[in-house]
Amino acid sequence: MMRQYDLVERVKRYNPGTDEALLNRAYVYAMKAHGNQKRASGDPYFAHPLEVAAILTDLKLDDATIVAAVLHDTIEDTEATREEIDRIFGAEIGQLVDGLTKIKKLDLVSKKAAQAENLRKLLIAISSDVRVLLVKLADRLHNMRTLHYVPPSKRARISEETLDIYAPLAGRMGMQEVRDELEDLSFRHLMPDAHQMVKAKLSELGEKNKGLIEKIEQELVAKLQAQGLKADVKGRQKTAYSVWKKMERKSIGFEQLSDIFGFRVLVNTIPECYRVLGAVHVVWPMVPGRFKDYISTPKQNDYRSLHTTVIGPGRQRVELQIRTWEMHQIDEFGIAAHAIYKDGLEFRPEGGAAESNAYQWLRKTIDALSEGDSPEEFLEHTKLELFHDQVFCFTPKGALIALPRGATPIDFAYALHSAIGNEAVGCRVNGRSAPLLSELQNGDQVEIIRAPGQTPPAAWETAVVTGKARADIRRATRAAVKAQYTGLGRQILERAFARAGKPCSDAKLKAALPRLARSSVDDVLSAVGRGEMVSSDVVKAVYPDFREEQNAGPGSDGKGGWFELKQGENLKFKVPDRRDPEASIPIRGLQGDLPVSFAPNGGAVPGDRIVGILNPGEGITIYPIQSAGLSVFDDQPERWLDVRWDIDEARKSRFPAQITVSVINEPGALADIAKVIGDSDGNIDNIVMTSKSNDFREMMIDLEVWDLKHLSAVIAELKAKPIVSSVTRVNG
Ligand code: MN
Repeated sequence: MMRQYDLVERVKRYNPGTDEALLNRAYVYAMKAHGNQKRASGDPYFAHPLEVAAILTDLKLDDATIVAAVLHDTIEDTEATREEIDRIFGAEIGQLVDGLTKIKKLDLVSKKAAQAENLRKLLIAISSDVRVLLVKLADRLHNMRTLHYVPPSKRARISEETLDIYAPLAGRMGMQEVRDELEDLSFRHLMPDAHQMVKAKLSELGEKNKGLIEKIEQELVAKLQAQGLKADVKGRQKTAYSVWKKMERKSIGFEQLSDIFGFRVLVNTIPECYRVLGAVHVVWPMVPGRFKDYISTPKQNDYRSLHTTVIGPGRQRVELQIRTWEMHQIDEFGIAAHAIYKDGLEFRPEGGAAESNAYQWLRKTIDALSEGDSPEEFLEHTKLELFHDQVFCFTPKGALIALPRGATPIDFAYALHSAIGNEAVGCRVNGRSAPLLSELQNGDQVEIIRAPGQTPPAAWETAVVTGKARADIRRATRAAVKAQYTGLGRQILERAFARAGKPCSDAKLKAALPRLARSSVDDVLSAVGRGEMVSSDVVKAVYPDFREEQNAGPGSDGKGGWFELKQGENLKFKVPDRRDPEASIPIRGLQGDLPVSFAPNGGAVPGDRIVGILNPGEGITIYPIQSAGLSVFDDQPERWLDVRWDIDEARKSRFPAQITVSVINEPGALADIAKVIGDSDGNIDNIVMTSKSNDFREMMIDLEVWDLKHLSAVIAELKAKPIVSSVTRVNG
């Protein structure tokens, strides 16, 4: 295991001004924090963060990055806290370690999600600082190097994740060496047989061509020297993984691969690169279509080189990469090397006022990273900074949804589809039930629970943060209110036409539209429902000859829609009388042929315990035993009759009951109440507005129900409506 002074020495080699005390503090802190934790290999756990730091010293990174590497597993795996790290090492390092902790937690999610490209974006988003990504790559590299100690069952998943996410990320960051090694290690664990085969063939071929490679190297150097060019030429074998990929992609055997060797020509300056190219092309014929100038047009990750393939000595195809030493460093170490070459160690994204060259370059690279090569570029051209305003969440199937920070599961639902938002009634975040109005965090997996036919509460409009959700909610609540008015208007009109004894249909209404000065039948219905149009006017518009009769009693709505109902006024509903007039009152214990009625206030329904009160000269009134109205007869026991229900199930009928309902004053409330009662198979006989305030309406409703159970069900349905604040049975 690396010792304290080893680490300091490694850093001092490239950064003589390093803060030795800081490095030592980190070493001791992490060593104590990890205590006697062990790696799968049996080594002390602390060896791992040290190795990760060592990898980063190869990349010549700054003190904060090295310290963050030493501390990278402390928050997640030990008692250490962010606060403590901030206090001891400063907020900059604290932030880096925090970023690494977040990514570590993310690994748990990635098992479920199959979208590597999106995960890479998420990774970038979470890493507020590119140094977090550098440490993460080094962490993954060391874990891959020691993967053979991990139980075989876990190796495949880790290797897949490395191939899908981390190796391409290293490539995009321009760190070819890291990418090559990650790919090769993954390949070895995922396909041990294929890996072994390719490796064996490569080394066999390497042996066979050993002389040839050297010969070509020497010949190239000599030819270039003849032109006055001093160059280093290095022959190299392609990696096992890239060879395998090529075999797979082209469905060819190993023997058919022509370009297993490549040569790198390294010079000092860019003009020398082109002179080398000229010299090579003069001596050996070039293979058409293989020349690429990545110096005048660098790749997205800032890779620069000249590529060409020539028919070299012994008719052997020779692939050449011509580049400067600087380009070579950048190719191998990517971001890190670039920083060293351009600005020493100054490449902190949050660095001073003047943006360093490396930082500009870094930003460009990050832009390229975030653009991705997936066709569905829903985060295209987004900058790293912009990611800070966003949260990234997953659907249960692993699709990534980007939302503004502060977004709720409701925003998430609407981002998926308007219908999903409208029907959302609950959600699970990371498998647990959560309120729809909670704030989503990066990496959350969100599942929306839906109830078809639901209307979103209007209050959501102010709770959501996305414009789409807000617009959808507004649209849905408007449509719902309109539908309520339309439904109410239809009910009012049906009754008005029935009273007039005239048939009505949408076609007839449509024909009368010009006379009503409305553009559609729905407009007419909702105008009537809102009370903007009087139902008798509609009847007259459809039947111009119709004369209104005087029988327009309280049941006619000549005063407008329901909402014109004044306190104390009542509105009688004409309901079909389902009671058979010939049927006897289903009550036992009655005397003689006395007429029977039900308690005037509150009625009585089967299921109630009842008593009869004898009213001389009038008959018998049936009261529920709990009725407050009975108290007036307390001192007249001679009038009390013992009665019981005698229900014939085959000939059921409805009985009167009375309820008071208090509702929030909002458009459509009354229609809602009427609909709930109707949907529950209750008949409304009468509604009286008993009190009216800005916020509430209280009404007394006369109902006809089958029995007590049915009445309880109607009350329960009413109570379930959000606009209903209370329901009580009179005499209940
Ligand atoms: Mn680690």
